[in-house]
Amino acid sequence: MSITVHQFPCLSDNYGFLVRDDATGLAACIDTPDADAILRELASLGWKLDLILNTHWHPDHAGGNAQIKAATGATVVGPKEVERIGQAPDREVAGGDSVSLGQTRFEVLESGGHTLGHIAFFDAADHAAFVGDTLFALGCGRLFEGTPEQMWDSLQRLAALPDDTKVYCAHEYTASNARFALSVDDAPALKSRAEAIFAARERGEWTVPTTIGLEKATNPFLRAPQLAERMGLAGAKDHEAFAAVRAAKDSFKG
Ligand code: ZN
Ligand code: FE
Repeated sequence: MSITVHQFPCLSDNYGFLVRDDATGLAACIDTPDADAILRELASLGWKLDLILNTHWHPDHAGGNAQIKAATGATVVGPKEVERIGQAPDREVAGGDSVSLGQTRFEVLESGGHTLGHIAFFDAADHAAFVGDTLFALGCGRLFEGTPEQMWDSLQRLAALPDDTKVYCAHEYTASNARFALSVDDAPALKSRAEAIFAARERGEWTVPTTIGLEKATNPFLRAPQLAERMGLAGAKDHEAFAAVRAAKDSFKG
């Protein structure tokens, strides 16, 4: 079993992802940030779209569903909350479900916090996770709907995946995340990673995908418990430390 992931930038800072099950040639798109761009990429690859997999209801993730479905006949699979963009998914899924694309199986992981019904898709055979706006390189999604405790649980679910899992985040926010991370954490591994990120972005290179191992070592949101004392929160519960890091990022001007 194997997959091929085709990644491309779209909108102002989103990434589109097309995933092909190599055994059958069937393809899925992860979210629908930009229908025209996705249809163009599909045509140039010559891939046949079977599934649209939505992580959450935001328009830069599900806004292209109707146009892509009309053009390709693909089945929309996503959390119930996707109905908020005007059309319910053809198949509703939640944490614990699985979705098949040819011979590839995606486990659905509950990852609420950014939105209440946010989910992620994990292909355990290929160590690939499509995490939407839950986990970013050196960052995490804003808490628009959920609580810090819910988001912390979601992040821990992702952190429990194998270290070499490729993490396909939906946005290129990494340089600004790195500036914030350096303001709250002085881990040597973070410093060298941040330098590499700034240089990569200067060259116009992408910083996505990242890996679970790299994020566990350097992402200040996953490292919140280790940063608690520095932030004057010695003895805080893990999700309270996480809430403090999230609040600091929300007001960070960098
Ligand atoms: Zn979002
Ligand atoms: Fe987004």
